[in-house]
Amino acid sequence: MEIQKVSGKVFKMKISQIITYVLSEDLEKEFFFSQWEYSNRKICVVKVICDNGLVGWGEGYGPASVIEASIKQIKDYVIGKNPLENEKIWSIMFRRVHDYGRSGVLLSAISAIDIAIWDIKGKFLNQSITNLLGGAFVNKIRPYATGLYFNKNKNITDELCNEAKMYVEQGFKSIKMKVGLNIRDDIKNVIAVRKSIGNEIDLMIDANHAYSFPEALELSNKLKDLDIKWFEEPLSPEFYKQYSDFRQKSPIPVAAGECEYLRYGFQKLLEKQCVDYLQLDLCSSGGFTEGKRITALSSTNGVKVVPHTWGSGIAFFAAINFIANLEPIPGRLYMPDSLIEYDRTENKIRENIIKNNINIEDGYIKINESPGLGIEVDETYLNEVKI
Ligand SMILES: [Mg+2]
Repeated sequence: MEIQKVSGKVFKMKISQIITYVLSEDLEKEFFFSQWEYSNRKICVVKVICDNGLVGWGEGYGPASVIEASIKQIKDYVIGKNPLENEKIWSIMFRRVHDYGRSGVLLSAISAIDIAIWDIKGKFLNQSITNLLGGAFVNKIRPYATGLYFNKNKNITDELCNEAKMYVEQGFKSIKMKVGLNIRDDIKNVIAVRKSIGNEIDLMIDANHAYSFPEALELSNKLKDLDIKWFEEPLSPEFYKQYSDFRQKSPIPVAAGECEYLRYGFQKLLEKQCVDYLQLDLCSSGGFTEGKRITALSSTNGVKVVPHTWGSGIAFFAAINFIANLEPIPGRLYMPDSLIEYDRTENKIRENIIKNNINIEDGYIKINESPGLGIEVDETYLNEVKI
């Protein structure tokens, strides 16, 4: 009887509306990294509405106005579909962009819609997305602080050390800092930061593909005694062979993937043994549907996944749900912590868009046990900052 009732609901539920929002907030203090400066935050989020009133939220990673245009390009192929058929919808969306969108922003649009569809699935079935993906392997996740960007201040090294110490005081056990200014300043900054936080805190470095092969290798060799957990994006993402060679030679483990898309792109990183840590971004690499396939590839190759996580609270909760379901590789009785990237730079949208608090207790964040993504979006705020 119960099954018939559910079947009836499945049959009736259809996606009826897809609404995009580009949200914008100016920064109080500008900052920069190896590629460009930030003075503003813009994020594209999507609301998918069903004819039975259920609503799902998603987010795309990348240039917000282009993602919005991309969602508008594909949304008509999604309207009228049953959101429980996420793989079928994914395939329809992908076939519509396949000829000109095998990487890049069109995939962020697909990712945003896919995340919203999983949010609806979870709400309909009264299960967290983690459970729908196959269940939680952990009950808590350790956030690492992403920060330590650059600014024009002459005493930047002191400022970076103070910022790092602040994260330690806040309970973070892992911190990621930017490199990619130039080799000399990078070495000075990383040595100072390591000294300021001591040896008990994990430290990662991220060049955002600023360096050539010899430069990256020089930096890795010169920092080899500082116990750096990973060197993220040392090289440009298109140079797979260089990554492969670099990983063989670098004394520091290599992480990359935030500029990669789909299982086909990640397959290239994996088959050439380019990385020790695979950093797919759910909001651009294809959403939960494709993310699950990418992690099947990574587990086949024995490579650990630590997703790249950026943007608003929607993207953050998507990552929480996804990371909780990551199969531990290798398995063992006392598992190492699962990590989630937690951007600590100024971003008013990140905290304000959701009514949920992101609580860190004893250095950990609890996994989501509420239906769908587990978030409540603050639509009053959303309408205030949309452009
Ligand atoms: Mg990065």
